[in-house]
Amino acid sequence: MSDVDVDSRALEILQRVFGYESFRGDQHAIVDHVIAGGDALVLMPTGGGKSLCYQVPALARPGTGIVVSPLIALMQDQVDALTELGVRAEFLNSTQDWKVAREVEQAFLAGDLDLLYVAPERLLTDRCLNMLSDGRISLFAIDEAHCVSQWGHDFRPEYLGLSMLHERWPDVPRIALTATATAETRVEIAQRLSLDHAEHFVASFDRPNIRYRIVEKNDVRRQLIELIRTEHAGEAGVVYCLSRSRVEDTAEFLCSQGVNALHYHAGLSPAVRAQNQSRFLREDGIVMVATIAFGMGIDKPDVRFVAHIDLPKSVEGYYQETGRAGRDGLPATAWLAYGLQDVVQQRRMIDESPGDDAYRRRLGQQLDAMLGLCETVTCRRVRLLEYFGQHTGPCGNCDVCLDPPEAWDGTVAAQKVLSAVYRLWKERGQRYGAGHIIDILRGKSNERIKQSSHDQLSVFGIGADLSDQAWRGVLRQLLAQRLLAVDHDGFGTLMLTEDSRAVLKGERQLMLRRESEKAARSTRVGTRSRADAIVLPGEAQTRFEALRTWRGEVARSHGVPAYVIFHDATLREIALAEPASLDDLAHISGVGARKLEAYGEDILREVARGA
Ligand code: ADP
Ligand code: ZN
Repeated sequence: MSDVDVDSRALEILQRVFGYESFRGDQHAIVDHVIAGGDALVLMPTGGGKSLCYQVPALARPGTGIVVSPLIALMQDQVDALTELGVRAEFLNSTQDWKVAREVEQAFLAGDLDLLYVAPERLLTDRCLNMLSDGRISLFAIDEAHCVSQWGHDFRPEYLGLSMLHERWPDVPRIALTATATAETRVEIAQRLSLDHAEHFVASFDRPNIRYRIVEKNDVRRQLIELIRTEHAGEAGVVYCLSRSRVEDTAEFLCSQGVNALHYHAGLSPAVRAQNQSRFLREDGIVMVATIAFGMGIDKPDVRFVAHIDLPKSVEGYYQETGRAGRDGLPATAWLAYGLQDVVQQRRMIDESPGDDAYRRRLGQQLDAMLGLCETVTCRRVRLLEYFGQHTGPCGNCDVCLDPPEAWDGTVAAQKVLSAVYRLWKERGQRYGAGHIIDILRGKSNERIKQSSHDQLSVFGIGADLSDQAWRGVLRQLLAQRLLAVDHDGFGTLMLTEDSRAVLKGERQLMLRRESEKAARSTRVGTRSRADAIVLPGEAQTRFEALRTWRGEVARSHGVPAYVIFHDATLREIALAEPASLDDLAHISGVGARKLEAYGEDILREVARGA
């Protein structure tokens, strides 16, 4: 095939099957490379459009594309979505009974499949490998390729076995895809999957439609409910928590406040997890409260917000999780509330974690990077992208850009804290935490102070000029910058570090961050009003609602999530364009040949009725 042939063939498939006008970003280059038989390592943020990178080549090359994915619970939806597009797709995993699996195998051997999704543990069985050898394979796509990384939180040992694909099928192109991608992880993926000659395609990791906001935690439940009520009422979202009990408490709280919330964590039975996940995907406006066990591969396009009410352990994890918001490109919110206790707790968890020193050091570095992001006085997006090795200017769509925090000279305040910590160190083992230190500084004479005679200390009452909240901010930032540490004694006693000395001696000036007054008062940091973002003008909105209702009925009767029929973005475009003929409709992004044939007349009728 000449280059021109490859070029037009890929584009033809994109337009006819998927109904999209043109490729995005690197997609075209990737697709051409794989169609020509090359290996590829693709790094794109969530929502960047990874699926097309292997789906189009699988359709263009002879044989079946084998997609390796750890996400068994999502395979049915993925196959349903392809079937709606007229693509011949099936899956093989442990949820099927053997008769169905046998039929799928027969279809593969007969050459009747364009795409076959397989779980890695299934793929690596002798039976499956032998079957694959008897059929024709167009490519291997290794989805969620970061699962091969032993440092990541999604590590799946089965993924290590996938390097054998290359030995057994040296001529079949392999394409590995992930949204998790520091340079380190990338190297690890390439090594472990033996992708020695693969071309690396690293997309921009920016998600411009996501507004990043990180706020000081004070009363996190109130802050969360305010966020939902004022900005995301009735919309789909995910709330991430660190522990299972916190997931359950938070979901219960949200329900008591009238929010349609479900919960998800690894401690629930598989049946409950599957049911909650399925409801989240199928019903409108559900808030899922979850641990990080939830979310990988969830391709629900209209998640409008992701909220973290506990500090994530790494920037990489945080970016993955927030990336689940706004895959449809419409405005979305990534909101994180964090405070002093988060820092203390995470440092302690690292100290107590199993594993060797190198492992703990690595966890510590990951946490430091996360804290750096939280405490930055420069654009969040700049910091985030820097972490992934990309450089940009201030974004205008994060809390720092919209409502810059104030920087203030915290040297004297820091000295006061450090002196108090130094004085209390003699009494370590007494559980004098951050709260007690703040009470001493502010000169409060409560029970605890009297009992301990700490009102006799020279530092007692020297910090009456700042509020409790302000002192918590100082302590938090000292911890974040490692000018204070948490002792390993099990009491969480605060202690000085080597770097503290320079501050105490006045050799080092310390600039600290303070949320702007406006940001502190409200969660509504320069938010675009909801109406602005989502609602269409007048009659178009009515048409959109009618189309959504129609879509809901179709989806229910097919037993698939609504977005498998059409995305909101496509319905919005139809509502605005008011197509009068099938030909008009065919030009709308997201309307391919099969969907035009299946739903075209119905849509035109809905549009005409709304006029
Ligand atoms: P990822 O797997 O990278 O998270 P997806 O493959 O799910 O992303 O794609 C994200 C969204 O973007 C999907 O709704 C997809 O249909 C859409 N999309 C991808 N590529 C294009 C394109 N070239 N034109 C229009 N929409 C696209
Ligand atoms: Zn910014």
